[in-house]
Amino acid sequence: MAEINNFIKTIMQQDLDSGAIDSIITRFPPEPNAYLHIGHARAIITNFELAKAFNGKTNLRFDDTNPAKEDQEFVDGIISDLAWLGYNPANVFYGSDYFEKTYEKAIMLIKKGLAYVDDLTQEEISKYRGTLNEPGKNSPYRDRSVEENLKLFEEMKNGKYKDGEKTLRAKIDMSSPNINMRDPVMYRILHINHHRQGTKWCIFPMYDFAHPLQDSFEGITHSLCSLEYDNHRVLYDWVVENCEIEKEYGKRPHQIEFGRLNITNTIMSKRYLRALVDSKKVSGYDDPRMPTLCGLRRRGFTADSIRNFILSTGLSRVNSTVEADSLDEALRDDLKLKTLRPNAIIDPIKVIIDNYPEGKVEYLDCPNNQENEELGSRKIAFSREVYIEREDFIEQKPNKKWKRLALDVEVRLMHAYFIKAVSVEKDELGNITLIHATYDPETRSGSGFDLRKPNGNIHFVEASTAIKAEFRLFEPLLLDETEENKDLDFMDRLNPNSITIKEGFVEESLKDTKELDHYQFIRNGYYVTDKDSTNEKLVFNRTCGLKSSFKL
Ligand code: ATP
Ligand code: MG
Repeated sequence: MAEINNFIKTIMQQDLDSGAIDSIITRFPPEPNAYLHIGHARAIITNFELAKAFNGKTNLRFDDTNPAKEDQEFVDGIISDLAWLGYNPANVFYGSDYFEKTYEKAIMLIKKGLAYVDDLTQEEISKYRGTLNEPGKNSPYRDRSVEENLKLFEEMKNGKYKDGEKTLRAKIDMSSPNINMRDPVMYRILHINHHRQGTKWCIFPMYDFAHPLQDSFEGITHSLCSLEYDNHRVLYDWVVENCEIEKEYGKRPHQIEFGRLNITNTIMSKRYLRALVDSKKVSGYDDPRMPTLCGLRRRGFTADSIRNFILSTGLSRVNSTVEADSLDEALRDDLKLKTLRPNAIIDPIKVIIDNYPEGKVEYLDCPNNQENEELGSRKIAFSREVYIEREDFIEQKPNKKWKRLALDVEVRLMHAYFIKAVSVEKDELGNITLIHATYDPETRSGSGFDLRKPNGNIHFVEASTAIKAEFRLFEPLLLDETEENKDLDFMDRLNPNSITIKEGFVEESLKDTKELDHYQFIRNGYYVTDKDSTNEKLVFNRTCGLKSSFKL
């Protein structure tokens, strides 16, 4: 596996060398208000791999200080997605478990004259805040005495006031060029049931206050976050300094920003993913078309392929956009030599080999992976009736390039015999329903027969032993952006053909396949067994094709 190497690693090394710290502690801090997506994988892998590179540790911390949107379902989902990716957090913490300590720090700031209770409404606060070009205005409540602030803040905590009636604000600088420093709100009132705290608290700390404190309490050395927090860093440092973290803990955390990962034709915003699920445009967060980790897993991506993909995108202080196709490439690289390569026919047409004895089934040797002998071999059935892909047959050979079956044309059925098509049966509409063929018993695979060259090699599945299967093929959820649709809302740019279902067969050897077993179906692509499989019918999701479809 690729090793992590980026500008943050350099900073960490310097901090260790200078003796500023003696070990690396990072954290991954998701809000439990959605399932994780592939963008989060960048944050996860960066935090965990960097800590691992220095024998450090990484905490999982649920940033659950925003009670309205949080849910146990997402907490569980995040824990299991992390485990699947192969990461085991040193600790699982909840931001809400620090409410008491966070409250004490707020008191500390009030006592130092650095925070005040404000009666302005949300709208008034925004109005007073000013703009990029205009300085803000002081709130008329800014100069309340320490005693009054302490009393009011305690009353806020005790539930005396209604939602939005008061806030606690940091007293910094209403004319700062950085709007985040214009007396940011530190606490708001919300009478709401918290998924862990119940109704114990009705005041909730804001991210900009809670986050640096949580990092401090956990001894985080490097607090990595995406680029949009860039201009929050001064506030982060303000909180750390004024809450006297270094004095109390002997060290302090530092925020470092990195670029977000974007993927072509892939929307990762939680709002959008939720809208897709709520409007039933997809079957759930784990629909194989979703860019969620649970969706990608069900689609057949492996944890290693996701990790290698993320590491291959590098990391810098700018947001980056990567072609969706490179995730497919990472999957192919991962599975090429690892997976079995069984035969599957996704759009079948039956071939009857008229000169093969009726009732006879023979078993032929077939390597499990032509490129990796270590995976051994198996026996595949062959008889008078086989299925081949409809697209592997055409009545009249159109030209020299056609290297498959046609009337009077001979091909090798891979690992079996040469067959030649002799006639077809059709329905009223003229569709071919059956192919009659003959075979040459001298041409059994492995017999050393090489007198003539077949017109190509095609694969097959023997009919009497074949297992019925459903194949789910996917295209991107979103249509490519064009001149006409570029201003449309994402929901109006949905690809109507993002899923196609095919009914076909797989060979007998897959009878005991389990959910999440990966395969390369010969001449077709990578597939994974879906949880919807039943005793009557197996279901496979196509992860990606065998070759890059990326068009230059
Ligand atoms: P929201 O703004 O809805 O909270 P979020 O993407 O910030 O969405 P979080 O749960 O807060 O969601 O994310 C946890 C961590 O994952 C954050 O540090 C965030 O910066 C990081 N992250 C999320 N999306 C990406 C992305 N596309 N690329 C890199 N990091 C990301
Ligand atoms: Mg966030």
